[in-house]
Amino acid sequence: MSRRIQGIGMTSRRTRERMISRLRQQGISDNKVLAVMADTPRHIFVDEALESRAYEDTALPIGHNQTISQPYIVAKMTELLLQSAVPTKVLEIGTGCGYQTAILAKLVSQVYTVERIAPLMKKARDTLWELNIKTVGFKHTDGGWGWPEHAPFEGILAAAAPAEVPEALLQQLAVGGVLVIPVGQEGKQYLHRIVRTDEGYLDEVIERVTFVPFLSGVTG
Ligand code: SAH
Repeated sequence: MSRRIQGIGMTSRRTRERMISRLRQQGISDNKVLAVMADTPRHIFVDEALESRAYEDTALPIGHNQTISQPYIVAKMTELLLQSAVPTKVLEIGTGCGYQTAILAKLVSQVYTVERIAPLMKKARDTLWELNIKTVGFKHTDGGWGWPEHAPFEGILAAAAPAEVPEALLQQLAVGGVLVIPVGQEGKQYLHRIVRTDEGYLDEVIERVTFVPFLSGVTG
């Protein structure tokens, strides 16, 4: 393992373990999720200047006006996705720096991730490669379209908040599948856990959250 991945001081395994204790105190209880977060170096997903802050419970800038989601929200969304069963195929909307992608890739067999900002996607792909995670499919697209070629998905997780749940995501969810998504205008967003059943969709509102907006179109 490279020295950068291994980390020292504020980026060491011990700092990561303190983050895990904090997540437990905040109510995260899925041991599978906590184990992969203990095992994944979060500091390599942010700029070197911010590495020492990577394990604080906060969102950090990753460039292009975007942020890496705070550890609590990554843990919470992953836990909600895996709550009833571990999905085999998951679609992630908003790759960002790829940290959430890495956590998912260690828990489910196939992850497809889409991002509308090309340089972020490219960097995330390089970082995952550095961590030897090679099972993820990447696409530079507007996640509002989902990824129809690989549908249906047993799990879909969105890291940006639309005003309303995009129809394509509901359609691309398998029966029995789970969609975890923040919904609402800035300053008034709630995390939803939506389950597709034979008859329709069950929509559970989880808690108030703060996410970057879900934007349409792509940028180069
Ligand atoms: N889990 C990521 C979160 C990044 S922030 C991380 O921890 O790094 C959310 C990301 O969603 C941003 O990179 C943003 O560009 C992307 N995004 C916003 N709207 C999108 C859309 N319609 N399609 C694809 N990606 C989108």
